[in-house]
Amino acid sequence: MKNQDFDLIIVGGGMVGASLACALKNTSLKIAIIEAFSVTSEQQPSYDDRAIALAYGSQRIFEAIGLWEHLAPHSTVISDIHISDRGHFGATRLSAKEENVPALGQVITARIIGRVLNKALSLQDNIEFICPTKVVHLEQYSNSVELTLDDDQHLSAKLIVAADGGHSTIRRLLSLGMSEQDYQQTAITANISSERPHQNRAFERFTDSGPLALLPMSDNRCSLVWTISTGDEVDILNLSDQDFLSQLQDRFGYRLGKLTHVGQRHSYPLKLIQTDQAVQQRIVLIGNAAHNLHPIAGQGFNLGLRDVAALADVIANADDCGEAQLLHDYTQWRQNDQDNVIQVTDSLVKLFSNSNPLLGYCRGAGLALIDALSPIKHRLAQKSMGLDRKQPRLGRGISL
Ligand SMILES: Cc1cc2nc3c(=O)[nH]c(=O)nc-3n(C[C@H](O)[C@H](O)[C@H](O)COP(=O)(O)OP(=O)(O)OC[C@H]3O[C@@H](n4cnc5c(N)ncnc54)[C@H](O)[C@@H]3O)c2cc1C
Repeated sequence: MKNQDFDLIIVGGGMVGASLACALKNTSLKIAIIEAFSVTSEQQPSYDDRAIALAYGSQRIFEAIGLWEHLAPHSTVISDIHISDRGHFGATRLSAKEENVPALGQVITARIIGRVLNKALSLQDNIEFICPTKVVHLEQYSNSVELTLDDDQHLSAKLIVAADGGHSTIRRLLSLGMSEQDYQQTAITANISSERPHQNRAFERFTDSGPLALLPMSDNRCSLVWTISTGDEVDILNLSDQDFLSQLQDRFGYRLGKLTHVGQRHSYPLKLIQTDQAVQQRIVLIGNAAHNLHPIAGQGFNLGLRDVAALADVIANADDCGEAQLLHDYTQWRQNDQDNVIQVTDSLVKLFSNSNPLLGYCRGAGLALIDALSPIKHRLAQKSMGLDRKQPRLGRGISL
C-alpha cells in the first residue's frame, strides 16, 4: 500500500483529462492522472477511430500547449462548411476566407490525439500516469481530497479534476444530481470515398431521420457521422457496402458525386447528460463528465478543451490550486459557454429531427436567411470556431 500526495489528481486520462495535464506541464504543480485503460488497449473508450472536428479555437489552444506541430501532419483543414436540409430549399455556407482565418477547423482522429497527448505526458517529470486502475472511494477534507484506488493505493491532492467521461465514477461517488435525456438516436461512423474531391469542405445535412455530417479527411476520404433512430442501427450496420452507400447517397445527395467506398462502421448511442453542480469542495468535473453532448454540431471535445484552457489558466500559478475562490472563478467563467453550447446543440437536434413540413419550410428559410445576412453568419462562424467570448491565455496563444 502506497501513500502519495499531489497538488492535482486528474481522474480519467481521455482526450480532456490528458489535455489538462499537458496544458499544465510547464507549471510547478505535481500532477497524477488515474486512467482505467492504457492508450493502446482496444477498450480505451476515448481514443478510437472517430474523426474529431477541431474548431479553430481548439487548434490555437493546442498551439499554445506546444502540441499542434505534432497533430498538424495528421489533420485535414476545413476551409468551408455547407449546411443544408434534405428536401428543402436554402443552405448556409461558412468560409475561412470570409472569416479571415487560415481554417474554420481541422479534422483529426481521436486515436491520433491520444497518441500525441500520451507521448507528451510520458516526457514530463511532474506528471505521474497511474494506469490501469480505478478510484473506488473518496473523502473530502477542508484542505485536501483523499482517493482510494482499486489496488488499495491511497492518494491525496489539493484538487481532484474528474474527466472520467459521461458515466463519471466521481459523480457517482459524490452522489451528484444529473439530468439525462436519451435522444433515441444512434450515430453511425465510417470513412467514405467519393467520385468528386471534397476540396476541404465539411457538410452538415439535416434529414427527416436525423442529421448527418461528412468531414474532409486525407486521401480524399470523408468521415461520416450519420444519426439514425435507435433500433435501426443493427440493420444499417449489417447492410452490404453497396446498399449502405446507396441509402447514404439517398440521404446526402450528389454534392460529392457518387459515393464509391465505405470503411469499417461503428455505432454510438446518443444522450445528453448534464451534471447539476460540476464544482464541489476541491473537486471539479470537466469534459463529458460535466456535459455529454449529441455530436450533431461537433462541439463536445471543443467545449471540453475550452474548460481545460480556462481551468488551467485559473490554477496554473496558485499556491493552493483547490481553493474555493479559484473554483468559483472557473465556474463564473465557463457557465455561460457551457449552457449556451448545450442549449444550441439540444435545440438543433430537436428542430432538425422533426418531419413536420411547416417546420421544414421554416428551417430552409432560416438557413437561406442566415446565408444572406453577413453579421449573423459571422456570429455563427465565430461561435462554431469557439472564438465568440473572452479567451484564456492558452486560447490567445500564450503558454502557461
Ligand atoms: C460519433 C461521435 C463523434 C464526435 N465528433 C466530435 C467532433 O467532431 N468534435 C468534437 O468536439 N467532439 C466530438 N465528439 C465528442 C467527443 O468525442 C467527446 O466530447 C470527448 O471524447 C470527451 O472526452 P472526455 O475525455 O471528457 O471523455 P471520454 O472520452 O469519455 O474519456 C474518459 C476517460 O476516462 C476514463 N475513465 C472512465 N472511468 C474511469 C474511472 N473510474 N477511473 C479512471 N479512468 C476512468 C476512460 O477510460 C477514458 O479514458 C464526438 C462524439 C461522438 C460519439
